[in-house]
Amino acid sequence: MSNLNTIADKIEEVILKTISYSNELKTDINNYALLYDQKTDNKWYIIFFFHEQVYHENSIKNGNCYHVYLFLQEELKQIDNDLPYSISFELGSPPSNKLEYEELLKKSTETYVSKGEQKICSKCGHSWNDHQLSGFIKEGETSPKEGWMICPHANCTCFITWDFKSK
Ligand SMILES: [Zn+2]
Ligand SMILES: [Zn+2]
Repeated sequence: MSNLNTIADKIEEVILKTISYSNELKTDINNYALLYDQKTDNKWYIIFFFHEQVYHENSIKNGNCYHVYLFLQEELKQIDNDLPYSISFELGSPPSNKLEYEELLKKSTETYVSKGEQKICSKCGHSWNDHQLSGFIKEGETSPKEGWMICPHANCTCFITWDFKSK
């Protein structure tokens, strides 16, 4: 497991760098959680926490969350080009006990829950099918391999990154 610890240390280093970058953009991100899911998909979940809702909403609307995501994405590539990860933004503070930790991990790993015929986003509770997928096509590729997803509902702050690397 020592290799995992080394990777975690490196990721935490670039997360801190990303938080100072995000402060330059005038977000109020002041905390984060780094979760690793060994049981299901061996993926790193990076969750940034906004302190106040107004900052959270504005940063989704004006693209600052997207810029933070791009910044961190570049940094993570320096660690390992194939690192499986997911970045998201929340309001509040990181988990302070095991139960909260497990709840956050569950919310992060299960993108949606099925309610009868409907798929409900586990982050925001709106219909999963309404979520809009965006991504960029890189040189030499024919389709995007990673990108982000946002919810079109008014004032919804749902923002999840996606990738095909770990699938
Ligand atoms: Zn939503
Ligand atoms: Zn959502």
